[in-house]
Amino acid sequence: MAFASVNPATGEVVETFEAHTGKEVEERLHRAAESFAAYRWTSFVERGRSMAAAAELLEAEQPDIARVLTTEMGKTFAAAKGEVAKCARTMRWYAEHAARLLADEPVETDASQSYVRYQPLGPVLAVMPWNFPLWQVVRFAAPTLMAGNVGLLKHASNVPRTALLLEDVFRRAGFADGVFTTLLVGADGVAGIIADDRVAAVTLTGSEAAGRSVAAAAGAHLKKCVLELGGSDPFLVLASADLDRAVPVAAQARVQNNGQSCIAAKRFIVVEAVADEFTERFSAEMAGLVVGDPMDPATDVGPLVSASQRAEVEGQVDDARQKGAQVACGGTVPDGPGWFYPPTVLTGVTDEMRAYDEELFGPVAVVEVAGDLDEAIALANRTSFGLGSSVWTSDPAEGRACVERIEAGLVFVNAMVASQPELPFGGIKRSGYGRELAHLGIREFCNAKTVWVS
Ligand code: NAP
Repeated sequence: MAFASVNPATGEVVETFEAHTGKEVEERLHRAAESFAAYRWTSFVERGRSMAAAAELLEAEQPDIARVLTTEMGKTFAAAKGEVAKCARTMRWYAEHAARLLADEPVETDASQSYVRYQPLGPVLAVMPWNFPLWQVVRFAAPTLMAGNVGLLKHASNVPRTALLLEDVFRRAGFADGVFTTLLVGADGVAGIIADDRVAAVTLTGSEAAGRSVAAAAGAHLKKCVLELGGSDPFLVLASADLDRAVPVAAQARVQNNGQSCIAAKRFIVVEAVADEFTERFSAEMAGLVVGDPMDPATDVGPLVSASQRAEVEGQVDDARQKGAQVACGGTVPDGPGWFYPPTVLTGVTDEMRAYDEELFGPVAVVEVAGDLDEAIALANRTSFGLGSSVWTSDPAEGRACVERIEAGLVFVNAMVASQPELPFGGIKRSGYGRELAHLGIREFCNAKTVWVS
């Protein structure tokens, strides 16, 4: 089996890599377990020095790394440079804060001393998606390595260059051999690795289907598991919303990463009072975005990642159109090479259409109209997902009502949903469980050891 890195803007194969053999995987697992035995006792200062060096390498090599991201999965070069910078910032944040986040926590009891101590678990397997090929891995690796665990990466099969590049960055930054290891294996190799006694825990970011298999394998072997799955994030536009601010952010929130983000706004729920104006202005904003070569600085939206991903999005839009939805803009595959799809706005979507409750992983927005705040929240909550949500209002009481009642892992008021190292990130319902980033993320793969001294 070989892994191909294919440029989505042209369809050309850039490079191929042979999968690791069973023997090679075994060697890497052995090295990871061996390195953990020593690495777990290193100090935060020592780990932080290597993590900060990794951040420096990312910054120094930012354009080259960004070019790999763009030519491997199609995001715009500007977005790729932003992703590299965010990874460097997150590495630095954990390098600086890990000791504080994992410091012993004294607890008042009858003991002469009692406290919670955080200790690493061992080699942690990360099964990762292609859409933010560097960021998804770094937001796992920075806290996990700073906590004293070692990381094993099974990246998505279409981003082998990014996977190997990051392994190389960690090695050059000074982390010992085996502290961060890429395994070039397919999805069918994952269950066997989870079952391996040397692997302590697993985290997956990806689709629901992958989440179910990884959770089942982790359950069968009683291993800790974190799941970051899909989303169908609502973007609520309430009557008092400032449309001058909301409209451009709405378009940005939908087309970020060429529409392929778990926290992209996907359902635009607009109250009646502003529905016509919002829909008209939002459709014009989406129609005005420039689709094209992701390396061109003038481009807003690059290609989708693959032919099959574009066929999926096209199928969802065609299904809605055939069943009576209106296409306010976009909706037609352009001629020419590359897997481009235009920013598209659908209205009149009903529950017999796929676009009603499937995740739309491309630049396709559904606009729904709600009578009032209560109906808007009910529509926001009608999905089986529960990842992010964005609420637009000038009324603080409406904002608070949404914060209380929206069923999601994240609620952003008058802002687009985004992740950053300081804030926990994750979902509820079929968007998964567990948290990444901030203090909660670094503790997911720790033994919170209770200590009692009489
Ligand atoms: P995917 O097909 O589930 O792939 C994700 C990873 O899981 C890949 O490494 C894939 O390997 C592996 N995988 C697939 N099926 C598996 C199985 N049955 N057992 C074990 N591993 C398996 O998802 P994707 O298409 O790459 O990514 C898009 C999805 O990720 C969307 O649903 C998106 O919303 C979600 N996502 C969620 C977050 C979040 O933070 N919640 C962030 C980003 C993306 P192969 O590539 O070898 O198949």
